[in-house]
Amino acid sequence: MKMDERGDGLDRRVFLGAAAGALAWGCGREAVRDSGAAPAAATAGSGAGTAARPAQIRIGQNENPYGPSPAALAAVRDAVAETYRYTDFEGELLAKIAARHGVTAEHVILGTGSYGVLIAAVAAVVERGTETIVPHPVYAAVERHAKTLGPVARVSLDRALRHDLDATAAAIRPATRLVYVCNPNNPTGTVVPSADLRAFCRRHAERVTIIVDEAYAEYVPDFSSMDALVRDGAPILVTRTFSKLYGLAGLRIGYAIAPPKLAAAVRSARGVDDLCWVSRAGTRAAIASLDDGSYVASIQREVGRERARLVSALERHGLTVPAPAANFVFFKHRRPEAVKAALAARGVLISAHDPSGGCRISIGLPSDMSAAIEALGAVLPSLA
Ligand code: PLP
Repeated sequence: MKMDERGDGLDRRVFLGAAAGALAWGCGREAVRDSGAAPAAATAGSGAGTAARPAQIRIGQNENPYGPSPAALAAVRDAVAETYRYTDFEGELLAKIAARHGVTAEHVILGTGSYGVLIAAVAAVVERGTETIVPHPVYAAVERHAKTLGPVARVSLDRALRHDLDATAAAIRPATRLVYVCNPNNPTGTVVPSADLRAFCRRHAERVTIIVDEAYAEYVPDFSSMDALVRDGAPILVTRTFSKLYGLAGLRIGYAIAPPKLAAAVRSARGVDDLCWVSRAGTRAAIASLDDGSYVASIQREVGRERARLVSALERHGLTVPAPAANFVFFKHRRPEAVKAALAARGVLISAHDPSGGCRISIGLPSDMSAAIEALGAVLPSLA
């Protein structure tokens, strides 16, 4: 692990990220040099007679390798000592989230990651046999769960790899119940113009329920959320997570805001009681994260700089890169799986989107990105 990547307080987070990497390995996951955490992975991998695994650079899961803010880490440390207690911080977190979006606590649904809220929303909205519309390519959870209930129509992104809202509108039929929008979109990193999305939601939200997944919103300076539409009472769910910029992926905490009637339907899709969906450590860390605005700005800066460096490197290889807004970069390629495999052979783990025709690289620490750029230089020429 390089403790000298930054001259400021982020070094400690790098260290804690290394510890988290070691824990992940202990849970039977692949050996992980979690963005610069080689010693942790090696130590964990060498226990109990196991040979040390080669170091790996994990930049395929859109994690924040700088980890949580110092305030969130302190909250987690306190919560560890209180682990024998159920959480009683939900009310405080609900109030903070409500204030952030200008809604009431009744509008807020907490969940085990935003994944937990997304699948509950699908269960609440999609009656058996009714239809869902999803963009393509996109984060797959909604499509996978909607498919268990009814048909799913895919609408391809436009030429700029952004949501094609006109084509989505044209795909809405009487049987459509749910439309999923992901903004910024995963895996392409593109943002749809907020005025267009707002107009789309206003026009169609009475006929269908719309999920606007804003998992990566915090990475976009001056992001224009669709939360105002929820305040206006439109049947829209805006989902957010503490897993991405806030660096709490392992604690599994996210939320949605929706008008109270829809929020109640989503909650009851999980069971009759709205208890037990979030942990004490998660709620405490989330509260602390929301209080630490300067951390958001510092991560935006770090990620923005490394993202620009990666985009330039990819463009030097003649690749098409849509304008990225989040902590990952997508590039088109005819052989995404081959690129992924060739990089993996060099210890660089990215994600491939076959048959969408591209690869996605998450932004790691500066040392990760230097290694990834070097590995890309070695593998891309032979895979053109
Ligand atoms: N939405 C998007 C667009 C994602 O990329 C992810 C995770 O990668 C999620 C939601 C779910 O994340 P979590 O359950 O950790 O909040």
